[in-house]
Amino acid sequence: MSKYQYIIIGAGIAGSNAAATIRKESPEASIALIGDESYPVYSRVNIGKVAAAHKQPEELLLKTEDQFREQNINHIIAKVTALDKEAKLATLDNGEILQYDKVLIATGGRARKLTQVGADLAGVFSFQTLDDAIQVRDYIQDKEYITIVGGGFIGIEFVELLSALGKKVTLIIREEWYWKGMIDKIGGNLINEYIHQRANVYYNAEIGEIKSENGAIAEIILKSGEIIPTQSLCIGIGLELNKDFLPPELCNRGLKVNQYLVSENTDIFAAGDIAEYYDILQENSTSGGTWANASLQGMIAGYNMVHTDAMKPYSLIPVFSPKTSLPIAFVGACRLGSDMQSVVIEQGDRYVQVNINKDNIIIGGVIIGDSAYMGIMRKWVEGKIYIDNIVS
Ligand SMILES: Cc1cc2nc3c(=O)[nH]c(=O)nc-3n(C[C@H](O)[C@H](O)[C@H](O)COP(=O)(O)OP(=O)(O)OC[C@H]3O[C@@H](n4cnc5c(N)ncnc54)[C@H](O)[C@@H]3O)c2cc1C
Repeated sequence: MSKYQYIIIGAGIAGSNAAATIRKESPEASIALIGDESYPVYSRVNIGKVAAAHKQPEELLLKTEDQFREQNINHIIAKVTALDKEAKLATLDNGEILQYDKVLIATGGRARKLTQVGADLAGVFSFQTLDDAIQVRDYIQDKEYITIVGGGFIGIEFVELLSALGKKVTLIIREEWYWKGMIDKIGGNLINEYIHQRANVYYNAEIGEIKSENGAIAEIILKSGEIIPTQSLCIGIGLELNKDFLPPELCNRGLKVNQYLVSENTDIFAAGDIAEYYDILQENSTSGGTWANASLQGMIAGYNMVHTDAMKPYSLIPVFSPKTSLPIAFVGACRLGSDMQSVVIEQGDRYVQVNINKDNIIIGGVIIGDSAYMGIMRKWVEGKIYIDNIVS
């Protein structure tokens, strides 16, 4: 059994940043960074560029194995299958067992799969890893008709990417309009215009059956009965967090941590998509789901694992912009629900939606058509401005 002071599970941006920070704060510490992908950390946000053959896979790498060696970080390519919090042990799928003093969970999520028969046919792809992107690139090269399912940021980025390659794109989404849970109908109409110029779109639609020909996908039949001939299906229907190996009592949707990114068990930390952290700005528990969040949380968790008596709190107003030629930006709290109301304050060339809480304070917003406006929205959210102060 090997023993390390610090073990990091998940070698994405959160895990790699944590490893680098621990090394900086503790030059002599023993560190193992365990990841189940066969690459060192890479720019996951840019895998679309590999799928579209605009970039080679190696251009996305953010670190080399040599750099890990120089920093004396032991990068182990393996999957962690169990974590024993009492004995402080991590079991790997190669049979190895590692003992730790402190462990960081930075395992992110995996792409949710379709459950329909045919979801494993040739030509059906998820889109979460560099390997997925390479497979998509190779498969779609000589294909013309491609279908996308899912109404999140991956779906809309696929529309942009594949239509620009000259493919005949069809988009299937379950909701009445794109991002219905986050954008008002007026904003939904603007996004619809953008999509219509690039794809044939089915709203309120769900896949019923997937039909094959010679072992590959050939047709999608919607629950409404409509038939879509297709040569490939790209799926972007959300994430399932990688928490199967974790003690269930420490988890809710993700691994529950406080503002210092430490869990109920003070030897276990979390960062990135897997962390369900206490947000001191919103005063509730939430999850990230963005590169900036994972990147910064990795650094803060790494720092706090070393300096347990002087931990720093994490706080960041989340900002997200999908890679589309129509500028779209989400700032702060954006999931509309009973505790949050949306108010559209501009709907011309520039669409501005602010999200307010029960006290009429701006806690988030959406901008379409003007990326520069993101800074203004961020200031409103940061300043906890009353909506009455910006609209008369
Ligand atoms: C196509 C795409 C486009 C995106 N575009 C944007 C964007 O434009 N802007 C933005 O802000 N965000 C974007 N995101 C989201 C962003 O990439 C993520 O929020 C970020 O990568 C999360 O980082 P992470 O380190 O928490 O997790 P991940 O990047 O998911 O890394 C976790 C790593 O842990 C590994 N792992 C999981 N379980 C285990 C285990 N048991 N043992 C060992 N290793 C394990 C995983 O295989 C993975 O390598 C995009 C995501 C995708 C897929």
